[in-house]
Amino acid sequence: MQTLRGIPVSPGFVIGRIFVIEDESRPRVKKRNIDLADIPAELERYEFARNASICELNELHKTAADEMGKEAAKIFLFHIGVLCDPTVMTPIKKMIEEDQVNAEYAIWNTFNTLSKKFASHPDSTFQSKVDDLRDLASRQLGNLDTKKKVSITNLNEGTVIAARDLTPSQTAGFDRTKVAAFVTALGGRTSHTAIVAGALNLPAVVGVKGLLAQVSDGQKIIVDGQKGLIILDPDEETIEHYHQAQIRARQVSLSLHEYAKLPAITADGVRITLLGNIEFAHEIDQVINDGGTGIGLYRTEFLFLTQRAKPTEEDHYRAYSECVKHLKGKPLTIRTIDLGADKYTQSQEENPERNPYLGLRSIRYCLVHQDIFRTQLRAILRASAHGPIKVMFPLVTNIAEFRTGKYFIREEMEDLDEQGVAYDKDIEIGMMVEVPAAALMAGSFAREVDFFSIGTNDLVQYTLAVDRTNERVASLYTPIHPAVLKLIRDVTRAGRRHEVPVSCCGQSAADPAFAALLLGLGVRTISATGSSLPMLKKTIRGLTVSRCERIAKKAISFDSEAEAASYVRSRLRKLVPEVFDGRPVG
Ligand code: PEP
Ligand code: MG
Repeated sequence: MQTLRGIPVSPGFVIGRIFVIEDESRPRVKKRNIDLADIPAELERYEFARNASICELNELHKTAADEMGKEAAKIFLFHIGVLCDPTVMTPIKKMIEEDQVNAEYAIWNTFNTLSKKFASHPDSTFQSKVDDLRDLASRQLGNLDTKKKVSITNLNEGTVIAARDLTPSQTAGFDRTKVAAFVTALGGRTSHTAIVAGALNLPAVVGVKGLLAQVSDGQKIIVDGQKGLIILDPDEETIEHYHQAQIRARQVSLSLHEYAKLPAITADGVRITLLGNIEFAHEIDQVINDGGTGIGLYRTEFLFLTQRAKPTEEDHYRAYSECVKHLKGKPLTIRTIDLGADKYTQSQEENPERNPYLGLRSIRYCLVHQDIFRTQLRAILRASAHGPIKVMFPLVTNIAEFRTGKYFIREEMEDLDEQGVAYDKDIEIGMMVEVPAAALMAGSFAREVDFFSIGTNDLVQYTLAVDRTNERVASLYTPIHPAVLKLIRDVTRAGRRHEVPVSCCGQSAADPAFAALLLGLGVRTISATGSSLPMLKKTIRGLTVSRCERIAKKAISFDSEAEAASYVRSRLRKLVPEVFDGRPVG
């Protein structure tokens, strides 16, 4: 039995078996020496993998040409060209014949050498092809490892996925009836993989150091999403302990569900609006079931992240109309696509950004890729004819970005008018407050926006200069930090002065302690993962706003985040022990 510690990002306990997803950029290829007599068979295996990969690439080329045009599809012709290039094929065959090694190792070694040459080439065209070479190597290796290829589509129930890292689209794409939990070696508390795990209600632990060196397919594992632990090869006693914990967790969840039906009103009578965050339309029913009165954040970039081709206007329209239908008159806040940073594989870019979190992401990306942006805006407007929709822009840092986004909406409205297409002419247009600049300038923005939505995931990251996805600095990622609280206070004050509603939709809002601080700082609308809503209602109903205001005022006055968090923890533990006992704060 071995216990490894990571960062808990989605609660729950799972007892299951591991399925390892190889890290495509560093496949664990083992060198195996082969006998002289086995050389022809090994050469044949290489040919098989090469040909199978060429067939796949031809298919991909055809689909991409249809969906994205000939120019965009050219990349697959380049891939096929590399696989057929004698300067690539010859060294692989030579290694198999002369060094007498297995095909996997010969492929991996040759492509690795080639990648290094490309990476150090002074011409950036070569540098930008490194990921393509890695992709080609893993495609061929995948075709050699047919057992693994088949088994990912054929997982058993209770599978725990173990990986170095997972992209949001991988996380969203697993068969939910089979996958019970995720564990990864990389990642932080609010990385998007963590957010998707939460949305899917799957326990997850990220940032487990050295994970892949310790695990293997089929190994028994316990995932403790509460404490951020994974236990490999657990003994009977530990299994029984966690079995009991599962039963207790189910009972708590059932008892909490009572709160889903009650109104979110504080003990001193202030009504709080509780909304849900979603990535996919199908999550809406669960949010409503958990007591949400609408959707405060729809992360529409997942339409991009879960399909290979760019979504069309009809794809967008269908998704938004489906949401509106499920919501039956309850409000839907659509955030325009927030691509970039960890929600866009840099490897898809010809010139990957050196610092993508400070790069062309979110509204900046939309203003450069106007075709993508306008397509989405038209679809949002069309869907607004069917139910209450608001629209907001992510990561706004200056007023020009907001104005330009709004100008595009107006232009699309004019086009729809000309075509006689219905839409909501009074659609509210708001912005997310996710960077200190936006919070500090909230007074100026407030003259132009219809609402603010504070995104603490990014606000904490940019205020504290802590990468939200980096497990090495995860302990520095602390939302209950006086600097963050001061910025939130600035926004709510500006909102009050200008009568602009302020909500908060970051992950921290799902933490009852942070939610209490938000109430104390003047926030009256909270949007969080559906599963956290019953607990938030219980918290809200057990507290008064005046008490929260006093706690927030004091927390903001501390010199350090540690003092602030410990003060908030001890106060709330006294006030609503049934919520805070045993719950970490911060
Ligand atoms: C945020 O930054 O708080 C937020 C809600 O946006 P995302 O997590 O999608 O970046
Ligand atoms: Mg954000």
